[in-house]
Amino acid sequence: MSQPDAARAGSPPISGPRLYVAGDLATDASIGLDAAQTNYLANVLRLKAGAAVLAFNGRDGEWRCAVEPAGRRDIALRALVQTRPQPAPGDLHYLFAPLKSARLDYMAQKAVEMGVSHLRPVLTQRTQVSRIKAERLAANAIEAAEQCGILHVPEILPEMKLERAIAALEPARVLIFCDEDAAVTNPVKALQAVPAGPLALLIGPEGGFDPAERRWLAARPGTVRLSLGPRILRADTAAVAALAIVQSTLGDWGVRP
Ligand code: SAM
Repeated sequence: MSQPDAARAGSPPISGPRLYVAGDLATDASIGLDAAQTNYLANVLRLKAGAAVLAFNGRDGEWRCAVEPAGRRDIALRALVQTRPQPAPGDLHYLFAPLKSARLDYMAQKAVEMGVSHLRPVLTQRTQVSRIKAERLAANAIEAAEQCGILHVPEILPEMKLERAIAALEPARVLIFCDEDAAVTNPVKALQAVPAGPLALLIGPEGGFDPAERRWLAARPGTVRLSLGPRILRADTAAVAALAIVQSTLGDWGVRP
């Protein structure tokens, strides 16, 4: 749940928190809320009946809703008007070696804010985390989506060993492999040579890729081995840096040359 966003490009500033809901959104639909959402609106924000809330569900666009009582102590939302239509989903897959919890929460939220459409945890030789809590990743994705004003919640794909995850990529999907051992060259120039089409970005674990993984990835057709500069970045820093370069060069931050 998030407080009102500043005006997003292309849409008037609409006051009110944004909430991801499960129910269908249509004129006059009543949307049930879970306990956490009820607590946030009623007790944290102390919203009264009639207060405006923006709701989205990943299918029906964004709707301005009004808080309404639902029984003695509960509240619900009444959908009033659609404020933004549902956009086409993006297509940027983010493959990452999971990190320890707080860093993983951060990395998942930043990846969503930076526009990924799918998050795939990959198990590499040096991945330090064994069990990934998919529901925690999903909760982070929802929280980030509410905060950054997108209308799709990125999909959390099941974790896979690195080799299987790479083999599962469609042949047309270019893999951008962030390799701290790659020769330091201008990453923007490297990416400008990438043909338009679906993309996947791969960030390794805190311990890095092992030499066999690195050799195999670099030899894979359709892989772009990318340097993120002369310093070794922590995996969560590398995620934000790489996604900024990818989005500004090939993605939705700018116009392709
Ligand atoms: N091998 C590193 C070391 O010596 O400490 C550890 C890997 S780094 C903490 C985690 C991941 O971030 C790497 O596997 C890579 O995907 C990415 N990364 C970090 N720095 C990078 C750089 N300068 N260029 C490209 N990728 C980088």
